[in-house]
Amino acid sequence: MVSETQHEANRTNSKRNSQGGRSTSWLGKTNEPPNWIRFNKGTPILNNFKNGLLIVVVGPMYATKSQTTRAMYEKYCVFNRKGVWVKPDTDNRCEGKTVTHDNRVIANAITVSATTPEAALSKLMPYDVVVFDEAQFFSEQILSVVKSLLSSGKIVIVNGLKLTAGDSIFGSMHYLLAFADEIISLKAVCNICNKIDSATRTRAFNKNNPTVKVGGASDYWVACPECDGKYEEKKFET
Ligand SMILES: [Zn+2]
Repeated sequence: MVSETQHEANRTNSKRNSQGGRSTSWLGKTNEPPNWIRFNKGTPILNNFKNGLLIVVVGPMYATKSQTTRAMYEKYCVFNRKGVWVKPDTDNRCEGKTVTHDNRVIANAITVSATTPEAALSKLMPYDVVVFDEAQFFSEQILSVVKSLLSSGKIVIVNGLKLTAGDSIFGSMHYLLAFADEIISLKAVCNICNKIDSATRTRAFNKNNPTVKVGGASDYWVACPECDGKYEEKKFET
């Protein structure tokens, strides 16, 4: 004879299994919320960002900016919200896709002129969530594009390098950071001491080439504050 307690346990298990089954393909394919929302009490608030929301993800090279951006993007694309990734035309590594430094595909992306991003504004307006990848390569006009999207209630996620390898401000990242509602500041594994989550600066192997080029994994390294400047001692194999 099955006890009442055992009945309750069976009911709970079957509920968990059915929820687990439904939760596997929620992104962009179903109206059902993921588990982390379903477990909340009450009705989830779909759009409480009437004035938009700007999230800026920054860090040196190799700090997993694109992967972190992808996670934020998925979080805000629930309930069939439409999202789009935008990359500057200076990024010609992989047509129609955003890739990491080691060529892993992060998302499909549309290419927009780095010098005149405002020309693409009408193309971006139908979307609820807009990501700008490698935003340091866009001209100052990126700020007016972002402001227009925010005033239409969009969620805008921007990622990029805030400084060049020569410690100059990179593009318009300082404006975007100043305007951000949320800043996610990431660190990389230091190439000198190998400490995880410690490197804050990008450095060029060739000091005459301080502006970080797109891709450029073989031209740059990253350092924590303690190891910055110790490149000559390390004797990299390049
Ligand atoms: Zn270090």
